[in-house]
Amino acid sequence: MPVALLPPVTTSGGNWYGQTALTTAPRYVRGRGNSRWHRVRSAIDNPASHGRGPWTTYNYWCGPFAQTSDDRGPLWLVDDLPPGEPVCGTCVGRALGAGQDDVPAGLPPLVFSPRWQAPPSTCPGSNRQNLVEPLDARLRVGRCLACGAHDSIRALGRGYSSYGWGLVKHAPGTDLIQPCPFHGWHRIVGKDGRAACDCGWPGGAP
Ligand SMILES: [Zn+2]
Ligand SMILES: [Zn+2]
Ligand SMILES: [Zn+2]
Repeated sequence: MPVALLPPVTTSGGNWYGQTALTTAPRYVRGRGNSRWHRVRSAIDNPASHGRGPWTTYNYWCGPFAQTSDDRGPLWLVDDLPPGEPVCGTCVGRALGAGQDDVPAGLPPLVFSPRWQAPPSTCPGSNRQNLVEPLDARLRVGRCLACGAHDSIRALGRGYSSYGWGLVKHAPGTDLIQPCPFHGWHRIVGKDGRAACDCGWPGGAP
């Protein structure tokens, strides 16, 4: 059973050129590149124009949208998901809170990854002074104080503006420091031979 949609009301956008608002859509949507399923808040059928289309835009409850006939790839729409498929917690919370749908007997696994809790793709110890422990006297290899990875040491800066040395850019190793509860991994620095947040966490009590 498809679910009823809200009108695609926005405060922005251009002139009407023949679009129609869809009143129902399948419950779940997943655009290419999405790591989870989302829920459809509103949808718009767009007529062919400027050599493109027609196409349909599906707006997610959590903000983004996906489109059919999108150069970025396919789009999936389903009413029911196989057990265990992860669904965007923001979308489900908003859709059910707005009364778009009956609360199902069993909720799917809900996921939400706050930006500051998702481990960074680049270790905060990359290219940083004071966050590397040299492993040889000639400063060629070092251990990252933020994540434990072993990698090459490089000079930081160039030529006359060189200002020391640090570990090359690397993905976080298995011993990545726990995120500061207040700043995540954004302010990790080296202090007294170990990694810590610049704010002082997790030092001893002041
Ligand atoms: Zn979502
Ligand atoms: Zn590291
Ligand atoms: Zn902090």
